Amino acid sequence: MGNDGCSMMTDRRFLVNVRQSGENALPIQDKESIRHARWCCCSLTGQALTKGPVVCDRLGSLFLRKALVAALLSKNLPSQYSHIKKSSDFLNIAPAPVTSTGKKGAKAAKAPQTLQCALSGEAMTGVQPFVVVDPCGHLLQHAAYDECVSLVEPGQKTTCPVCNVPVKRVQVLCPSVGELAKMKTELEAELALAKEAKKALKAKKKEKKAKGAAKK
Ligand SMILES: [Zn+2]
Repeated sequence: MGNDGCSMMTDRRFLVNVRQSGENALPIQDKESIRHARWCCCSLTGQALTKGPVVCDRLGSLFLRKALVAALLSKNLPSQYSHIKKSSDFLNIAPAPVTSTGKKGAKAAKAPQTLQCALSGEAMTGVQPFVVVDPCGHLLQHAAYDECVSLVEPGQKTTCPVCNVPVKRVQVLCPSVGELAKMKTELEAELALAKEAKKALKAKKKEKKAKGAAKK
């Protein structure tokens, strides 16, 4: 109990089946439940995302930070999240400014995290697409972000419309089946490149060491 009705719908087998068969074939009620589970609940535990700090991975899945870190430390992460190996493989979502309740200081820190657009204040429920800005973690409605980016003068750096840091990457959340496939391909290519670079660096170091030994 106490799982806010999320865990039933995040049952992995159920979600895998849904993703494979295509969500369009499902009755409206099921679609609503799946949308709620994907956007409002932790992908690992099914707990409501309002329960604590939230993070997202490179494939746009949402997690309670505590649950993801615990699974990483205990090496219990399901295979579909094998691309998450360290803290730099996920992005901390910046907490929304506490304006509606007016709580400050310690009270605000204890207040449940609300996931809403940092610009419009629109709650993230899955009705509207949302993105997270890397590196600052600001959560924005995709449309609001696009609108801000469209105002950037040609040749100027794109910066976060909330905190003005240069944008490294824009993470799409809970992508569609097509978007997810594209993101997976891009991530795999990036990981393969990083692996190659690491290998090359290792070989270079080994070569340098061998040369140094030969000189002695
Ligand atoms: Zn920002």
